[in-house]
Amino acid sequence: MPVEELRILTRHLGQPQVTERSGYEAVGGYQSLRKALAMGPEAITAEVKASGLRGRGGAAFPTATKWGFLPKGVFPRYLCVNADESEPGCFKDRVLLEALPHQLVEGTLIAAFALQASHAFIYIRGEYRAQRELLDRCVAEAYAAGYAGRDILGSGWDCELIVHGGAGAYICGEETALLDSLEGLRGQPRLKPPFPAVRGLYGQPTVVNNVETLSNLPYILEHGGAAYAAHGTEASPGTRLFCVSGHVERPGTYEVPMGRTSFRDLLELAGGVWGGRQLKAMQPGGGSMPVLGPEHLDVPLDFKAVADAGSSLGAGALVVMDESTCLVEVSMRLVDFYHHESCGKCVPCREGTYFESQLMHRLEAGLASADELRTLADICEHMDGRCFCPLGDTATWFVMSAYRMFRDEFEAHCGAGQCPVRAQAGRAA
Ligand code: SF4
Repeated sequence: MPVEELRILTRHLGQPQVTERSGYEAVGGYQSLRKALAMGPEAITAEVKASGLRGRGGAAFPTATKWGFLPKGVFPRYLCVNADESEPGCFKDRVLLEALPHQLVEGTLIAAFALQASHAFIYIRGEYRAQRELLDRCVAEAYAAGYAGRDILGSGWDCELIVHGGAGAYICGEETALLDSLEGLRGQPRLKPPFPAVRGLYGQPTVVNNVETLSNLPYILEHGGAAYAAHGTEASPGTRLFCVSGHVERPGTYEVPMGRTSFRDLLELAGGVWGGRQLKAMQPGGGSMPVLGPEHLDVPLDFKAVADAGSSLGAGALVVMDESTCLVEVSMRLVDFYHHESCGKCVPCREGTYFESQLMHRLEAGLASADELRTLADICEHMDGRCFCPLGDTATWFVMSAYRMFRDEFEAHCGAGQCPVRAQAGRAA
């Protein structure tokens, strides 16, 4: 049987004028918000709990549990939507922002009502300019229809909905750096605890949820949490969007049931490895996650199963690498990215990514000695677990996992005078 997508979150994708309010309403849009207002905050949270929905931004924390951390009776409180999608290989939030923006607006308002938030902020990455303009228009349409603002749909509940553009910094995807940036400060992570649920935006209780997470709420409210959970497995309920890119025939975003789909299925949906070549390696969760090999193709897309295999589903991006790929070169490019995006707040990351980058460039060019390779491994070992926020830790994960899995390839670069993989494939630098 050919593998097929299961479109829950993307069920309205491609419907006529669905990016406009009237088109979205024509497919049942904003009915879940009406239902939510009638149900009340506790019943909404119970439904989200029953759905088993877990955060889709990378940490996979149960959404209802996160909402439950808000201290009772402390107001005002805020909801922030993390639309600062910047993970290498990840573009699924962009699809939702571009193709189903009203679904996100509706999901945001449902969550804001469940939390009794007075303001909801959608923090969108600076590079997503066109998507921001679209979102601005959708928010204006929501206000005009009485879905946002004062006395929403006659419920007596007020909520302001604000779209805020970032300035293009990867670190602002970290929730506390996002809050600093929203407050007009330089986007750098805050010390935790206190966690945002207790002391977040402007010192008030705040929940930060990802675009995909909140875009699931209209379906959950319409069909019930149990119906949503039934699409996946007990440990990984529901469906999820996966971005598949790299050396595949049909790169794109695919929605599949969690836990019932394997990496092999996802690769098949994307047309397999291009040109009939062999799979060499894959990044299962974007640039931050450890590399997996062909032996992991049958691992199900389940949080625990992927963790047991030594990696993570992260932000839901599968980057496929064929047999001609040099893993040293890939590691070098990723290290350069993290070095560039390090916010500079803590020494292990600021200095560590600098030296990582210097050594990776020497290694890739075949100039590094075996001692320098050991120094690289030593630096990574000392960075992991000693950085102020996860960016510094994850800047070492791909390199170290690739070094473990392709040790011969890394060692063959030492003193080779050139990249041996590229030389063998006859590729230019
Ligand atoms: Fe900044 Fe890196 Fe330290 Fe995070 S780990 S606070 S990004 S310097």
